[in-house]
Amino acid sequence: MIYLDNAATTRVLPEVFEAMKPYFCENYGNPSSVYRFAGESKKAVAEAREQLAGLIGAEAREIYFTGGGSEADNWALKAVAEAYKEKGNHIITSSIEHHAILHTCQWLEKQGFQVTYLDVDENGLVRPEDVEAAIRPETILISIMTANNEIGTIEPIGEIGAIAEKHGVLFHTDAVQALGHIPLDVNELHVDLLSASGHKLHGPKGIGILYVRKGVKIGSFIHGGSQERNRRAGTHNVPGIVGMGKAAELAAANMNQWAARQTELRDYLIHRIETEIPYVKVNGDRKKRLPNNVNVCFRFIEGESLLIMLDSKGICGSSGSACTSGSLDPSHVLLAIGLPHEIAHGSLRLTLSESTTKEELDTTVDELKTIVERLRQMSPLYEDFAKKNR
Ligand SMILES: *Cc1c(COP(=O)(O)O)cnc(C)c1O
Repeated sequence: MIYLDNAATTRVLPEVFEAMKPYFCENYGNPSSVYRFAGESKKAVAEAREQLAGLIGAEAREIYFTGGGSEADNWALKAVAEAYKEKGNHIITSSIEHHAILHTCQWLEKQGFQVTYLDVDENGLVRPEDVEAAIRPETILISIMTANNEIGTIEPIGEIGAIAEKHGVLFHTDAVQALGHIPLDVNELHVDLLSASGHKLHGPKGIGILYVRKGVKIGSFIHGGSQERNRRAGTHNVPGIVGMGKAAELAAANMNQWAARQTELRDYLIHRIETEIPYVKVNGDRKKRLPNNVNVCFRFIEGESLLIMLDSKGICGSSGSACTSGSLDPSHVLLAIGLPHEIAHGSLRLTLSESTTKEELDTTVDELKTIVERLRQMSPLYEDFAKKNR
């Protein structure tokens, strides 16, 4: 199998799994209990909090563990909206956010909040000047993702954070795709709240964090016990927390090396696809791009058919569209960067990991060439096009 869908989820690294193991059958104490046996779990949670804080330049007490990236996004938006509603009811975000942000914003609109969804340029970049122009006296929050999960574009969040700070507006960023892949410092970037998820950086699924800068008012999202300084109830997912902490530690130690290697492989893959397959468009910014993201559209074919045929060759990719949910609409991100429906439908996202090899990419391109050729032979659109251009 060739796994090229690391934006959907990543492999738990063996070191991460090893670190988690003792917290299932041996040190299974509840970290909130008082006896010494629970002390092991408590210490492990504290260490993981330090590891995560270290990765983003935060203090350990500013890190709150959640049940994943979606929960962190929901919590950030809903709790800031609730806590600051006396100040105003306006939120600014972009049209290319993950659905955990977009659908939360739509829900907030039903509760009476006003949301501005900023357009992006043809590479998927939010323009900081658009953010500034959208700020009103009643704006309470700006939420712009660090990097896009479909096209890999890295947003100018440092500039956006500085604008937010200048205007006294809180700034949240969904860093789920970026954490562990590119350097992030919440102080340099003027970030007040940041969401991340364990399973996107070689940690386990069902664990995430919300960073909340000290001084930011934010209520509890899950009500119950007094875990997480009264802000997120529920018995700690100790193995998950330990796993995410270990993944953060490994990312901190290896990020530069992993990123350099993946950037080279990424550009090699893009180059081969662009030069060896006709009628291809590369999506997303060429430079301001996650080291592991390749997103292309092949004209005259359906991304879904492409995925099925790649799968039959043991290659896992993604169309980057919402088709998995049974909807036939093309990706909102590809439409937002201005692609027409028929081109957006032919999209393919291939996302690499630290263990991806050049041989795997060569095999993928070789298979892709044959598959694209075969699908185009079956396409009436291509037939018409070929006739006209003969
Ligand atoms: C995967 C992802 C999420 C959701 O994270 P989960 O931990 O799967 O809930 C949110 N935002 C972005 C950008 C993502 O890629």
